[in-house]
Amino acid sequence: MEDLVRRAARDLAESKYAIALTGAGMSTESGIPDFRGPKGIWTTDKQAEAKAYQRYELFLSNPRAYWEEMLGLGGTSGTSYEEIRQARPNPGHYALAELEALGILKCVITQNIDGLHKRAGSKRVLEYHGSVHVLRCLSCCSRSAREEASLTELPPHCQCGAALKSDVVHFKEPIPLDVMRESEREASRCDLMLVCGTSAVVYPFADLPRMARFPSRRSVANLDVIAHKASVEIIEVDAGPTPLTHEGVSDYLIRGKTGEILPRICEFLHHPL
Ligand code: ZN
Repeated sequence: MEDLVRRAARDLAESKYAIALTGAGMSTESGIPDFRGPKGIWTTDKQAEAKAYQRYELFLSNPRAYWEEMLGLGGTSGTSYEEIRQARPNPGHYALAELEALGILKCVITQNIDGLHKRAGSKRVLEYHGSVHVLRCLSCCSRSAREEASLTELPPHCQCGAALKSDVVHFKEPIPLDVMRESEREASRCDLMLVCGTSAVVYPFADLPRMARFPSRRSVANLDVIAHKASVEIIEVDAGPTPLTHEGVSDYLIRGKTGEILPRICEFLHHPL
C-alpha cells in the first residue's frame, strides 16, 4: 500500500488539472452516519427512509409540512441539522484542502451535504447533492445561508416570493442544473481524478468518473464506439473495491480510511523520496 500512496503522490505532482470526488466514506470518519451502510440511517430506520423518498413531493405539495418535518417538529429521526453542525472535519478533509492550497487540486465535487470540505478550508467545492447550510429557491434558483434565515414562520420565503427549500437534493428531485453542468465540465477536463470514500453507485453522480474515463461515445455503423481517454488517471481511496474498480474505470485503488491515506499522500508530496 505504501507503494500506491507514493504512486498517487507522484501522479498528483505530475498532474495538470486534478480534481477530487468525495462521498459518505469521508464523512463517516467525522461521526456522520451514512444512509445505506451497516449502521446507516435508512438501514436501521425504514420509516425514515420512506419519509425521505416522499420529501421532495411533500415540499411541492405542502412546503409548511415539509419544513415541520425537516425541523423535526413531527418527531422524525435521522441525523439532525444540529448534529451535522457540530461535526468537525477530519484529517482527510484537511488533506484535500492542503492539496488545493498547493495548487494541485483544482476542485472538490462532493455528494456530502455537511459542508465539511468548506470548513476544512477547501475553496472550490461543488456540492452535488446540496448543503444543509444553504436554502435554495426552486423558482429563481437563488441560494442563501440557512443561518441567516428566520424559521419562526414556516415556510421561509425567498425575495421573489416563492417558498424556500433546503438546498439538499432529495429523492426524485433533479440535481440543480448549474452544479451538474459545472461538475460535468470538471470531470471532462481533468487529467487526474481522486475518488474518495464513494462506491459510485448513486446516479447521476456516478456518471462523473465514467465521463472522465470515456469522454465521448460515437455511433459508427450502429456500433457504440467508446473513445478511451488514456491520459486520465483515476485513483480510488476507499475501504474496499467498488464498481469503479471492478469495471476498470479506476486505474488503481488504495485501500483504507481516507482520513489516513490522504494525509500520507500529502506527506509524500512534501517529502518526496
Ligand atoms: Zn426566489
